[in-house]
Amino acid sequence: MDILLATGNLHKKREISQILDAHRILTPGDLGLDFAYEETGTTYLANAIGKGMALHRQTRKAVIADDSGISVPALGGEPGVYSARYGSEGGKRRLDDVERYELLLKNMRGVADRRAFYVCCMVLVLEEYRFFVAQETLHGEIGTEPIGSGGFGYDPIFVLPGRGATVAQIPAEEKNRISHRGRAGRRIAETLRALVESGELRD
Ligand code: IMP
Repeated sequence: MDILLATGNLHKKREISQILDAHRILTPGDLGLDFAYEETGTTYLANAIGKGMALHRQTRKAVIADDSGISVPALGGEPGVYSARYGSEGGKRRLDDVERYELLLKNMRGVADRRAFYVCCMVLVLEEYRFFVAQETLHGEIGTEPIGSGGFGYDPIFVLPGRGATVAQIPAEEKNRISHRGRAGRRIAETLRALVESGELRD
């Protein structure tokens, strides 16, 4: 079925299209819609539901929204839910992906415990009072330098210890198989399939 994805992030669109490959994923931009949502929540769940519900109210269509980020326990969980705005607190210019991972590398200098995890909260909104949620994680470590050119965001510094590579070095299919977004997305895909099969949602 056609599903609207509440994002302007084309990396997310590509990943979610691959993960939910039985469906056609469209963005507000694909439909010529203006959609902006200010993420004011303090949890991934609040932001994902807020974003998804706002686009559903605007369009009355089936919507998927994801809110994601990276947490480093040794830094008290930072950047966490504020990952997209890391380093631009207090009205400062928004940093780009490279500036943000460079800032995280700098803040990790001399830190021995390099464990980190990605989180993705994904919500499927079918109607105002009908929605489904999945939240998943991917655990790894922060490296000491950026390596690789795949993925997006913090992937060049996110090391998969058992794999001996960063997420930016592995093929997209492998990232989708193990990632926070891949795992949450597959739960949402299973929910969609079950709803269609039981006749509770018309395709
Ligand atoms: P948001 O979900 O639009 O609030 O943005 C989440 C931010 O977290 C992104 O801009 C990235 O910086 C980071 N992030 C989330 N998922 C990933 C991922 O799979 N790889 C790398 N960075 C990610």
